[in-house]
Amino acid sequence: SNIMHQESTQSADKQKIAELEAVVADLKRQLSTDQFMHILNRQGLMDRLESISKEVRWQHGHPDKRRNAIIKSLAILFIDVDHFKQINDQFGHAAGDEALRQLASILVDEVRTLDVVGRYGGEELVVGLVGADLADGQRVADKIRQRIESTEFRFEQHIFKFTVSIGVAELTNGDLATVLESADRALYEAKKGGRNRVVVVPIT
Ligand code: GH3
Ligand code: MG
Ligand code: MG
Repeated sequence: SNIMHQESTQSADKQKIAELEAVVADLKRQLSTDQFMHILNRQGLMDRLESISKEVRWQHGHPDKRRNAIIKSLAILFIDVDHFKQINDQFGHAAGDEALRQLASILVDEVRTLDVVGRYGGEELVVGLVGADLADGQRVADKIRQRIESTEFRFEQHIFKFTVSIGVAELTNGDLATVLESADRALYEAKKGGRNRVVVVPIT
């Protein structure tokens, strides 16, 4: 009976550990999620992009090994809402919030499950297209730009439209910080060029 007692204690411990592991997994997911937009937050976004970048880099160092098993490339889209302040000013902050939520769900809808969608900060979003090159990135960015342009957003009695500017760059030397900077610079050019446009950083 002593042995039976030990066994039941052990199985109770095992169950407790499994429960705690589930709690930890759930907390980890919550820590990397923007609870408001239901996409990755800055930390979650950077973690995912960093691990993807490492796999792309790995292949560049070993061009002849397991070519098909490794991620070929990564395209980054830096997306910013045009004149977003006007939406808040005209229709209220809650309308702005709702616009951001709808924008996030459109982005998720436009990319594949393996791609990455995250909130970089405020009304700035980043999309990582896994295995995509610059041309793929440009194509997806323009599809997103056009879809947002033609969408009527609704909040309470308000119906309104807005546009986005997008900067696109491709991970080349394996350095995530560099590709993010490039995409951000392209976004700045898109704003300067008149907004509602996609600007691509040519690979040098
Ligand atoms: P631009 O075309 O140059 O990007 O103009 P903009 O008005 O979008 O840019 P600006 O950076 O001047 O303003 C961004 C605004 O986004 C200001 C900030 O209050 C608003 N914003 C940031 N995060 C949120 C949010 O979560 N909800 C709402 N409603 N507004 C937000
Ligand atoms: Mg901004
Ligand atoms: Mg903006």
